[in-house]
Amino acid sequence: MRRAHRLEELIFWYVFDRPFCVRNDLGRQFGISPATVSRAVSALVNDGLLIETSAEVASTGRKPQSLRINPEIAVLLGLDIQLDGVLAVVTDMAGTLLGRGAAPCDAQEGAEAVLTASLAAAGAALEDAEIDRSEIGHIGVGHSGDLDIKNGVCVSWANAASWRSVPIRAMLESAFGMGVTIDDRSRALALAERRTSPEDWDYPDALYIVCASGIGMGFFVDGRLYRGASLGGGEIGHTVIDSNGPMCRCGNRGCVEAFAGSVAILQQVRGALASGTPSSLRAVPDSELSIRTVAAAARQGDAVASLAIERAVHALGTAVANLVQVLNPSLVVVCGQLARAAGAEMLAGVRRAVRAQCVETAARSVEIRLARPKKDVSAIGCALLAAEAEAERALNARFSGRE
Ligand SMILES: [Zn+2]
Repeated sequence: MRRAHRLEELIFWYVFDRPFCVRNDLGRQFGISPATVSRAVSALVNDGLLIETSAEVASTGRKPQSLRINPEIAVLLGLDIQLDGVLAVVTDMAGTLLGRGAAPCDAQEGAEAVLTASLAAAGAALEDAEIDRSEIGHIGVGHSGDLDIKNGVCVSWANAASWRSVPIRAMLESAFGMGVTIDDRSRALALAERRTSPEDWDYPDALYIVCASGIGMGFFVDGRLYRGASLGGGEIGHTVIDSNGPMCRCGNRGCVEAFAGSVAILQQVRGALASGTPSSLRAVPDSELSIRTVAAAARQGDAVASLAIERAVHALGTAVANLVQVLNPSLVVVCGQLARAAGAEMLAGVRRAVRAQCVETAARSVEIRLARPKKDVSAIGCALLAAEAEAERALNARFSGRE
């Protein structure tokens, strides 16, 4: 929970959500004089909480000293929990990678296996970054299963049947002896994509669509990640776009994910191959069938692959167009493995759908682009999940006892 009793704290959190804002923005936002802004900002800079840079913002060319959270006020530890192992990273507050460590495990064996791997991966990442564990006060964790984020419980996990109602947050807090923020891996990836892309910061209302085995989203409102009543906001994957469509793993029919998730795309390709439809993908061993091989075959004109990709792009385009119509964002960024494998087709399809299905004002005011490839982006997002708690800790350390 963000504490903001003092003007300095209000300014700190404003800059937290809007890196590269300038002093004039603060005056307008809080209705305060330039002298008051100056006093408060100087105090925050002197305390080492904010930094001022003269970096130019490319899209506007403005050059006044812009404000950012000092990336060094805390080091962040993130755990990216996957079915076959845990990747841990250490970053600064800006998401710059300082160290990484991985530990394999078979999550199907249960939560204890994941806890053991988490401790091992975290230890390796801290050692790699030459950071003492005592410098970490809170951990960010991304999880692949279906989560009750508010209560920190993994309700279920496809491909790991033993995971039913596992209180994973409490288990990690107990194992590490510190607070844990847990969230969906795709939302973590969206967070990293935003925080590490300065070119996006001029677009305060933005959607980051994450196309992986499922479809996820991070929705930023005025620079801040939208979370919703039970903290699960942005679950685009299970919005129904065709009630007669294929079965989804959630039990409904025709969810976006049932068309555009990589699991669904590969399932469709396998189904077509099993029914005897001619395809160049017959030459690919089943173990090597991936979104990348399917997208490559589609580009070579293979009918089975093309149909699966077209169906995915059409479903995703429809879903994004609905979101653009309702939310009126200024930026949509398409991220994830499908965006990497079939980026050109995705971008064209989503732009086409938005043009065709949205009212003109909404369609005209949104920029749609692909994410640039970034290493370890999902794990970096997990670390950034801890940024708010660590920022709170740094603020409290500076301001407690000063009331
Ligand atoms: Zn579904």
